[in-house]
Amino acid sequence: LCDGLAPRADLLIEHLHRLNDTEGALRKGQLAALAEHLRLSQVEVFEVASFYHHFQIVDDDAAVPRTTVRVCTSLSCSMAGASSLLHGLRAKLAGDASVQVIEAPCIGQCHQAPAACVGQHQVPQASVAGVTDLLARGETAPRVLVPSDTDSDYTQLRRLLGGALTPEQVLAELKASNLRGLGGAGFPSWRKWETVRAQPGRKAMVVNIDEGEVGTFKDWQVLTTTPHQVLEGLLIAALTVGAEDVWLYLRDEYHDGRVILTQAIAALKQRLPAWQHKYPGWTWPAIELRRGAGAYVCGEESALIESVEGKRGMPRLKPPIVAVNGVFGRPTLAHNLETLWWLPEILEKGGAWLAGQGRRGRSGLRRFSVSGRVNRPGVYLAPAGITLNELVAEYAGGLPAGHTLKAYLPGGASGGILPAALADVPLDFDTLAEHGAFVGSMAVVVLSQHDSVRDAALNLMRFFEHESCGQCTPCRAGTVQSVQLMTEPTWDTERLAELSQVMRDASICGLGQAAPNPFDSVLRFFPEEVQ
Ligand code: SF4
Repeated sequence: LCDGLAPRADLLIEHLHRLNDTEGALRKGQLAALAEHLRLSQVEVFEVASFYHHFQIVDDDAAVPRTTVRVCTSLSCSMAGASSLLHGLRAKLAGDASVQVIEAPCIGQCHQAPAACVGQHQVPQASVAGVTDLLARGETAPRVLVPSDTDSDYTQLRRLLGGALTPEQVLAELKASNLRGLGGAGFPSWRKWETVRAQPGRKAMVVNIDEGEVGTFKDWQVLTTTPHQVLEGLLIAALTVGAEDVWLYLRDEYHDGRVILTQAIAALKQRLPAWQHKYPGWTWPAIELRRGAGAYVCGEESALIESVEGKRGMPRLKPPIVAVNGVFGRPTLAHNLETLWWLPEILEKGGAWLAGQGRRGRSGLRRFSVSGRVNRPGVYLAPAGITLNELVAEYAGGLPAGHTLKAYLPGGASGGILPAALADVPLDFDTLAEHGAFVGSMAVVVLSQHDSVRDAALNLMRFFEHESCGQCTPCRAGTVQSVQLMTEPTWDTERLAELSQVMRDASICGLGQAAPNPFDSVLRFFPEEVQ
């Protein structure tokens, strides 16, 4: 089963995918054989296989359902009826041993809720009839989507290669653009580039396409429509900082995106010999695509790097920062996919052009994923500093008839929940901290008077409980205890406040530090729902 895949320890997760895809699960005997094949101990293979949610370990003689149906039960899908879809499917398929129906955290299709995945086939606006129809037809392979830029010109890359643009000019434009990392942290991109560029030794780059934040699907949209613009940005970044190895890390839920990205990388590699001949003197990076396996925490850059190295995706303690000591100990430029998409745009229109966009003194354009109670859920490129009221009215078609705004999530599960009274504050990095919130990856979920904010917060906390990597106690135990307290009719606010403090102060990574945000928001803005 592992033919054609090198027997390297860092490819362990790729090997596990081969087995899991073929058998529907990982058999214990196969794990033992794989350990021998990769010259790893059995415990090393088992600890990785058991860490990722998309791997299922079974006894050698266990019967395994041929197809797994994953029903997204995260917030936007729950609001659109995921629970009845889940129960309807379980009732309909009861007794069919060839199918298992399980709950899944956000699969990045919030604009087409409720969503499900039949094998590797994503199903937007899923229904019991639609899913059973797909099963009957055996359609479990990834959907085939056609990107719009199948044959990009790579104009800005060729300017760099041909000397019309120097790496220093690229850096200067990047600085002038004020581009910030769009994976959630908003760190100024040029600072990362300068740090990595200044490091000695062999450098690397990782592209984070693990967008798992509840409510976020912008990277999926960018990837499936304009993959070559992303690859052009990737090469510009790698050549400018001198990265000799690049890993693209794609979340496993984006099977359709994986098909597109695989084809785009293959097309790019076909063009490389001609460029290498025409523009000698450049050190071209090796490019590898790595497949995540259902772990939200791998969106954290050091966890992602651990996963690229073939290990459990557990965040590292910092310092050192990954720009100094990243993948395999090399200085590593870690960028979100959308950040790279912006590079050709910036070099074509000028950094000042992007910096000049925005409202209320904010700078740039932001890609918002909008879902929940709006007429037109989707991805919208809007000025930084736009307000929720403007975003919904100007881009998302307003709220459906009979709904009025009650609350909204400005930044997915991590970013807190704000009341309608704060729908006129600018949405951007650093603008919501005084309200205990942040925009993160710009995942906006709109709630109306028909929704319970308390239920929404519980849904989000269950997500964190499910996704905690378990490495540190405040997060591992804190998320479990929070869920227990939040399921009580009246919340123990004192105990929750204590938990919030310890999780914020003592968790290793952003997951545990942000996990109290949902209940803190309820206590702050909607106490009447829990007291
Ligand atoms: Fe893992 Fe949570 Fe600790 Fe992050 S905060 S390292 S997710 S246990």
